[in-house]
Amino acid sequence: MAVTPTDRFAPALRADLHCHSLHSDGSLTPTELAHRAKAGGVQLWALTDHDDLAGQAEARRAAQALAMAYVAGVEISVTFAGETVHILGLNVDEHHAGLLAGLAALRAGRDARARAMGESLAQAGVPGAYEGARALTRNPAAISRTHFARYIVAQGHAASVSDVFRHYLKPGKPGYVPHQWASLGQAIGWIRAAGGVAVIAHPCRYGFSHTLEYALIGEFIAHGGLGVEVVCGSHSAQDALHAAKLAQEFGLLASTGSDFHADGETRAALGSLPPLPPALTPVWTAFGQLVAV
Ligand code: AMP
Ligand code: MN
Ligand code: MN
Ligand code: MN
Repeated sequence: MAVTPTDRFAPALRADLHCHSLHSDGSLTPTELAHRAKAGGVQLWALTDHDDLAGQAEARRAAQALAMAYVAGVEISVTFAGETVHILGLNVDEHHAGLLAGLAALRAGRDARARAMGESLAQAGVPGAYEGARALTRNPAAISRTHFARYIVAQGHAASVSDVFRHYLKPGKPGYVPHQWASLGQAIGWIRAAGGVAVIAHPCRYGFSHTLEYALIGEFIAHGGLGVEVVCGSHSAQDALHAAKLAQEFGLLASTGSDFHADGETRAALGSLPPLPPALTPVWTAFGQLVAV
């Protein structure tokens, strides 16, 4: 079924508004992801690389060739209450100078952090991790913990990427290096300036107390944030119920996406998730006219 402008109000539209390409910590090209999305029955798609818009032109072209509606997206790293929180910017203008400058400044900190991670991991008995992780990037400026995790698995120090996070890369573990990302206000400001909708990614992944969760949502709304991810590859069914309650309680729009990174890593395939609960208002109602295809 093709997406027509009126369908943007259809809750049952099959959307996947969260995934990663090799421009950040995914392993596929935007074109390969577009084919995965199409095969999964996706009608409305967004590529949302971490802190980078480099894949947008290719993603849009590939989506158009496959008759899928497309909105540009990005997942911005934010520091809130000393923790890392991810804010999705959906339907952004990928050419907006302010957004591009903000993301470039964020990326600029990644290399020094990665070098420090490498030193720290060497002391924990994992030598060569910076060089190894860097060799696994296609875009070295986007070097991330995921690249370290893949390298550490390949070296036989752990069985899976999630094991590496548990033993080496989470706060308190030897390879974790604290980092100052954007503020919540900066990230939402860049997204709004670029005409986009700000969405709290995977709200149940942060392990916040109720007090901190409410503080995050309160501040998010105060800055003009509009949505929250409800059904996503990083959420269990129970998480989705909790996020749905948050959406209703705070009047937030509901978003959905696989958060797909790579085959063999735990998250869902593109287009494979159940639909949003019908009581919620989907985030795409705020996108304006979708391109009819
Ligand atoms: P970074 O932006 O370098 O801090 O890396 C964050 C990325 O690590 C996230 O976008 C996820 O893709 C990945 N990640 C974080 N926690 C985990 C985990 N527990 N298991 C697998 N991947 C994770
Ligand atoms: Mn990631
Ligand atoms: Mn994320
Ligand atoms: Mn993600």
